Amino acid sequence: MRRVVCPGSYDPVTNGHLDIISRASRLYDEVVVAVLINISKKSLFTVDERVEMIDEVTKQYGNVVVEKFHGLTVDFCRERDIPVIVRGLRAVSDFDYELQIAQMNHQLAGVETMFMATNPLYSFLSSSLVKEIAQYGGDVSGLVPEPIQQRLIRRFEQS
Ligand code: ADP
Repeated sequence: MRRVVCPGSYDPVTNGHLDIISRASRLYDEVVVAVLINISKKSLFTVDERVEMIDEVTKQYGNVVVEKFHGLTVDFCRERDIPVIVRGLRAVSDFDYELQIAQMNHQLAGVETMFMATNPLYSFLSSSLVKEIAQYGGDVSGLVPEPIQQRLIRRFEQS
């Protein structure tokens, strides 16, 4: 079975992430979305909430599983015997950083990285921008799936 890992913070998952996940799900038998637990980075949603949200909006694909992890992505891959990571590239500005990480991951563990060019519809889209817009009551429909939009509204109402 050909499996691939899509690692990231997903705080929260956006239509840009879903574009990459859904396209990967057509190329591989199984896509494992690995949600990074990063205690030093302040997140809006807990890792369990992020996992739950991705589960909800990817169940339609049928071959996507969502897991949380901390530590190195290559260790996550090694433990599950998955040799490939998929990363989305939004713009040239993503490339320098992504290339360095990909080369390091290959050096560390022989894990390959496949880059997928973002659908230009989403090349300006990031979780942090979505949070900023939602925080000030802006409209994020079209940027995130409907259930995520509702979660964002609720979260900012609470604060
Ligand atoms: P990280 O914190 O590791 O950058 P993200 O959650 O921001 O994690 O992103 C996870 C993956 O999704 C990365 O491969 C990233 O390049 C990709 N990605 C993020 N935003 C978009 C987007 N708008 N379109 C396509 N891919 C994206």
